[in-house]
Amino acid sequence: MARLAFAVKSLQRLLRSQPRSCPYCGSANTTFLQRKKLLLELRRCEDCGLMFRYPKDDPDTSFRFYQEAYEQGVTTDLPKDTTLSRLIQTRFAGSEVDLASNIAIVKRYKQSGRLLDYGCSWGYGVYQFTNSGFEAVGFEISKPRAALARHALKVDVIDSLEGLDRLADASFDIIHCSHVLEHIPQLRPTFAAFRRLLKPSGLLVVFVPNAGGRLARAMGVDWGPMISEKHCFAFDAQFFARNLPAFGFAPMFGSSPHDSAPVSYVSKEQAAEQLPGEELLVVAQPATSPGNRQGDDRG
Ligand SMILES: [Zn+2]
Repeated sequence: MARLAFAVKSLQRLLRSQPRSCPYCGSANTTFLQRKKLLLELRRCEDCGLMFRYPKDDPDTSFRFYQEAYEQGVTTDLPKDTTLSRLIQTRFAGSEVDLASNIAIVKRYKQSGRLLDYGCSWGYGVYQFTNSGFEAVGFEISKPRAALARHALKVDVIDSLEGLDRLADASFDIIHCSHVLEHIPQLRPTFAAFRRLLKPSGLLVVFVPNAGGRLARAMGVDWGPMISEKHCFAFDAQFFARNLPAFGFAPMFGSSPHDSAPVSYVSKEQAAEQLPGEELLVVAQPATSPGNRQGDDRG
């Protein structure tokens, strides 16, 4: 069983005394915040601001995990044919994978264009963006999900990092990445890929659970999305505000229910007041100054 395997792996990592350094910036200056279910720790890096789960994932384990064991309701369970045809008939309206709200947010900035859905699972987002006037392509490392997207939804999906690397610089007007970053241990290469693949006039639109939100702050690790087997990171606006500029992005932030205009990050206090919702929206355009630093390759 996946859960037991995860517990065993976590225990092995503890026994091997995996270092408690930051999985993003490598700093040893990390602080224990809270324990979850005996084996897990929520820690925060005092240098880059990332909150992360300890024991940490190694990239290889994570890759296999997403091929085989990852199950989370209809967003990742492969739907049966009957479910699928009903979803297509109703254009996903009102379903768990209805992305109307995400599409409306993207459309505040761009009505059309070439769009990459990064971490697209079985392609429901690629399908909906295509039907909303975008030229959409997906990226998904789980081959069964990528295959279903191609076969059942007839959408274009890239299913390997190598495939992504082969794309030309500045291939996209929009990169959409919804509830994906909290799952993948390699954030730096991901941010670098976002920057490389976006046009200078492009738009990055990221959704993650908001660990800086009101409920997350009140409940700590008892807030479901905080850290778990599936979630190696817990993000707040501060982390992106501190770290995306190194990759040439100038991020703005919103939170659910996404009814007000995104704001710049000023301070923890301001974020707590203006970004209280459970879902964090990060909207970032490449910074305008030509001399902006490109993402460095460390880590
Ligand atoms: Zn760090």
